[in-house]
Amino acid sequence: MLKGKTVIVTGAAKGIGRAVAVAFAKEGANIVVNYRSTPPDDTIAAVEAEGVKCLAVQADVSSFDLCEKLVETAKDEFGSVDVVVNNAGITKDTLLMRMSEEDFDAVINTNLKGCFNMVKHASKVMLKQKSGAIINMSSVIGLVGNAGQANYAAAKAGVIGITKSAAKELAPRGITCNAIAPGFIETDMTAVLSDKVKESILAGIPLKRMGSADEVARAAVFLASSGYITGQVLTVDGGMVM
Ligand code: NAP
Repeated sequence: MLKGKTVIVTGAAKGIGRAVAVAFAKEGANIVVNYRSTPPDDTIAAVEAEGVKCLAVQADVSSFDLCEKLVETAKDEFGSVDVVVNNAGITKDTLLMRMSEEDFDAVINTNLKGCFNMVKHASKVMLKQKSGAIINMSSVIGLVGNAGQANYAAAKAGVIGITKSAAKELAPRGITCNAIAPGFIETDMTAVLSDKVKESILAGIPLKRMGSADEVARAAVFLASSGYITGQVLTVDGGMVM
């Protein structure tokens, strides 16, 4: 079903983005690996090892114009844009009392505006095609909030708002839009947490372990191939939020 399709994954140089890119490559899709500063060489090698085509495009997703170029480049290279996984994200955690305007804006610009930028430009191509699947990476924090993450929670809740609105707007043309809300996943983003914080998070996870990037990637492949699921938020969190 995904064989020969074009999949754009933002922030795909490492972590969940890399796992998503490789998972779609295993399904036979050609992959556009978007990256910002981390060199995407490992992702490109892993994607190409699956025998599909890979194009790496550098772009900061917080730029409206660069996202337009990213989508256009993918379309020019592969002829269509079938799946977009809006994965790029950052954290700038601190309590509200200490959170600067810059901390807030940076997280909103990448995590929320970046999602809007990609949905906006990719949906233009998908509307013409009358097909497509968009998957936005939210977070359980967007569902329940978290002390020290007001900026991140706001952005990830906003991603859910964009997802549901886009699902309603795009459904008449056969385009689906869903969100994934990962819980506590083993990547560089969570590697910075102290053992004490990790322990307290693990205590609240019924499956009693962190998730892997591959487990999130499998959910993305599932949503992209489901066809009749749209406007949903799929938690991949070991039961953290029920
Ligand atoms: P990660 O290992 O830190 O990787 C994030 C990737 O996004 C990096 O490759 C980064 O590139 C890229 N990126 C950041 N800002 C960007 C921008 N403006 N434009 C383009 N790319 C950008 O994080 P991760 O854990 O894989 O997280 C991936 C997504 O899942 C994020 O949206 C995150 O919020 C979400 N998530 C993660 C967890 C978790 O527990 N790990 C839980 C819930 C949700 P650079 O290396 O160049 O900065």
